[in-house]
Amino acid sequence: MHEVDITIVGAGVIGLAAACALSGPKRQVVVVEQEPGPGRQTSSRSSEVIHAGIYYPTGSLKARLCVEGSRTLYAFCERYRVPFLPIGKVIVAASYGEEPAIEGLWNKGRENGAEGLTMLTASELRKREPHVAGVSALFSPKTGIVDSHRLIRSLEALALDSGCTLLYRTRLSGLERTPRGFACRVDGPGQDSYTFRSRGLVNAAGLFADTVAAMAGIAVDEEGYRIYPVKGQYFRVRGAKQSLVHGLVYPSPEKNLTGLGIHVTKDLSGSVRLGPDARYVDALDYDVDPSHARDFFLSARGLLPFLEEHDLMPDTAGIRPKIQPPGTAVRDFVVRHEADRGLEGLISLVGMESPGLTACLAVGDLVRGLLAEADLL
Ligand SMILES: Cc1cc2nc3c(=O)[nH]c(=O)nc-3n(C[C@H](O)[C@H](O)[C@H](O)COP(=O)(O)OP(=O)(O)OC[C@H]3O[C@@H](n4cnc5c(N)ncnc54)[C@H](O)[C@@H]3O)c2cc1C
Repeated sequence: MHEVDITIVGAGVIGLAAACALSGPKRQVVVVEQEPGPGRQTSSRSSEVIHAGIYYPTGSLKARLCVEGSRTLYAFCERYRVPFLPIGKVIVAASYGEEPAIEGLWNKGRENGAEGLTMLTASELRKREPHVAGVSALFSPKTGIVDSHRLIRSLEALALDSGCTLLYRTRLSGLERTPRGFACRVDGPGQDSYTFRSRGLVNAAGLFADTVAAMAGIAVDEEGYRIYPVKGQYFRVRGAKQSLVHGLVYPSPEKNLTGLGIHVTKDLSGSVRLGPDARYVDALDYDVDPSHARDFFLSARGLLPFLEEHDLMPDTAGIRPKIQPPGTAVRDFVVRHEADRGLEGLISLVGMESPGLTACLAVGDLVRGLLAEADLL
């Protein structure tokens, strides 16, 4: 049976970043991806924001990997000419009652190591965003936007350059523990199935990370690995009103929120979108329901008083791979070597929701560190 050193399941930004971190001349690294190309699921359906690391509990993996990841991602984008812009973000207190929450974020962001955070008075906010309503705001100069599609292509090119093999239209369909790793059964193009051996295995399967974990014999419900998909829709602001917003504009977050609240993002072409909202779903469909325009309008008009309902048109949707069941507390990323479960060589990456795009390179480095620690590199 053919044997490789490391198999990565999933060619989203996280699987590809792991591939870049692990590939090298003396190591055979294979990425299996069920879609016909890279980043076709969650990675190409995000807000494309490079987060600064403000929201996440201090000491959590989300906080650490976001702060580290944003630095490395900016450097990567410069080096490999991936379009990006440190456009800045304001988190706005719409009323005085919201100010304590915003100041709480200021403190948490500084503890997390997010750089350059400052509080803006109402008049300072007006200077930065003349058409946004609010009594004060937290300003994050290091929050930016990136062309996620170009990022995916650059990571793919870099992985290939480093000698990694990328197998598209190839789905991992079975796993068996062997004395020296795993027997991986895959269904390739044309329904051909074959099995190869791999010493290490990285589960970067996004929305299907629980399915892959279950294939390895992990009890996903007991271990908290069950994915509860949460859909986020976007609506685009039509026409000239897009120029009334200069940067990223976020509301004050609610407690235990499933997203960051419907916010205003700009992409590199200057297009302005509202979203994403957050709804637990059973099926993975990416349709945007036009009847939700009213909810978006009602939640955004406080911040953007110039907005009218007919300014909004349905745009795209993405689905978050959450491991937080409805009504429960926010969970951290799971990045774990499963050696203590008798699965030496298996690295689980589960619940890789936002800020996963920002953190992808830092996650790749962490995976390399875990495999090196276990003498698997
Ligand atoms: C609406 C939304 C907005 C977001 N906004 C931001 C943001 O602004 N900034 C930010 O930092 N993050 C953001 N995120 C989070 C970010 O997009 C994700 O964290 C990141 O894309 C996850 O990447 P991934 O590689 O883990 O997952 P994916 O991109 O989903 O990749 C997993 C891949 O695994 C493949 N796969 C699954 N099972 C198998 C199998 N059995 N065999 C072979 N292949 C398999 C899938 O086909 C898929 O391509 C957002 C997410 C959503 C949903």
